[in-house]
Amino acid sequence: MIRNDSFYDVVIVGAGPAGAAVAFTTAKLGLKTVIVEQMPEPEHRVRCGEFMPGLEEIFRIIPEKGDFFSLLLESERFSTNITREISLVSPFGYERRVNFGAYVIDRRRYVQWMVGKAVDMGAELLLNTRCVQLEIGGEGVRGVVVKRKGGDQKVLKGNVIVGADGADSSVAKQGSMFRSYGDLDLVTTRQYVMENFLGDEDVCRMYIGQDYSPGAYAWIIPKGEGTINVGTGIRKPYLRSGDTLRGCLQRFIKDHPQASNLLKDATVKGVISAHVPVGGSLEKTFWKNVLLVGDAAGQVIVHVGAGMPPAIIAGEIAGQTITKYLEGNTPLSDYEKIWKSIMQKPIKNGLYIRKLWDKIAHNDKKAEKFLKIIRQGMLEKMIRAKIPITVRLFAPIITKIL
Ligand SMILES: Cc1cc2nc3c(=O)[nH]c(=O)nc-3n(C[C@H](O)[C@H](O)[C@H](O)COP(=O)(O)OP(=O)(O)OC[C@H]3O[C@@H](n4cnc5c(N)ncnc54)[C@H](O)[C@@H]3O)c2cc1C
Repeated sequence: MIRNDSFYDVVIVGAGPAGAAVAFTTAKLGLKTVIVEQMPEPEHRVRCGEFMPGLEEIFRIIPEKGDFFSLLLESERFSTNITREISLVSPFGYERRVNFGAYVIDRRRYVQWMVGKAVDMGAELLLNTRCVQLEIGGEGVRGVVVKRKGGDQKVLKGNVIVGADGADSSVAKQGSMFRSYGDLDLVTTRQYVMENFLGDEDVCRMYIGQDYSPGAYAWIIPKGEGTINVGTGIRKPYLRSGDTLRGCLQRFIKDHPQASNLLKDATVKGVISAHVPVGGSLEKTFWKNVLLVGDAAGQVIVHVGAGMPPAIIAGEIAGQTITKYLEGNTPLSDYEKIWKSIMQKPIKNGLYIRKLWDKIAHNDKKAEKFLKIIRQGMLEKMIRAKIPITVRLFAPIITKIL
């Protein structure tokens, strides 16, 4: 291995929303920052529905205030469409609607804007470069060993290392923070970008049912001008023997009683497949001088699969904490304290709702009944990661009598 050490205040692995937000913040605050991204550009393949709650909704879901929302507030500038409602469709076509203001954003432009600004403010961006190992020694992690595609390995030394490398975080694994996923804790998704959508563009649609989205949901998210993100998720224990993720998505598009009508003229322009971690946040999101941010830390509001807002808020918290830590004003562990004080509640509530759903999702009739009997106010609360007291008190009875 050729040793060609460089020294940084902060080494960030991954230039998704989480890494981009950390880099923007540390570069702005004057830290010597490097971002390592294995792909040829940030967001080379956008693996996201690009649904972003409007600011009013963000503050309903995450009401704790703090000086960590500035990058999230910028997302509105990258919106391509505004949606006003969420439609939830049961396995047999029963529909419930909830008023919910949101944007559909051009995520590639948004993340590339954050990374570009970080670079303008002095950060280094290493593309086509993969973190292959942490260099552990002394008091903590001295740096990361990276390998450029077709090139040599190199060590990037850093005072602080940030793992923003997604659900399968190699930084978390090497930093002894990784929690392996149980079968129920990972949603596998497949999504198409399609054109020629025939439905209303101000509604974001979610569909449940064993035939199309076993253990998760399928979605149609309008990006504007007839373009949509159409996808589905599955969890293994709910998938029927012999069925596949691909089969579920094809069936959804071709055979779903309502969706197939809206999609009958739609043509596929792109496809992606990826995982969403739905097991809740990790117990430990810092280890020595290493922090985990975004999917790497399990910071997802899991019952709706919302990972962008938490990743970007946590990225800003991480950037600010690292800066104060290097100035000698605060311990690095403050990162975990702060993000938990702001986001732990909605993340935990999302997990609670997912676990309630686990007991219903295997049975389409139960799922339909649940959607029919739940009061509008309760449904609205649950969409916003709040648990109505009646649900908390009677959850075991509800799941039994359905
Ligand atoms: C199909 C799908 C739809 C979704 N829809 C929505 C939605 O509509 N709204 C929402 O809020 N959330 C949505 N999510 C969740 C959201 O996309 C994630 O929570 C979010 O991307 C997390 O950001 P991140 O930066 O933590 O991780 P990622 O976006 O996964 O970014 C990690 C980055 O690290 C890089 N990387 C990984 N390993 C290495 C390595 N060893 N070396 C160098 N680089 C590395 C990767 O290439 C990647 O660029 C969706 C997820 C999926 C899969």
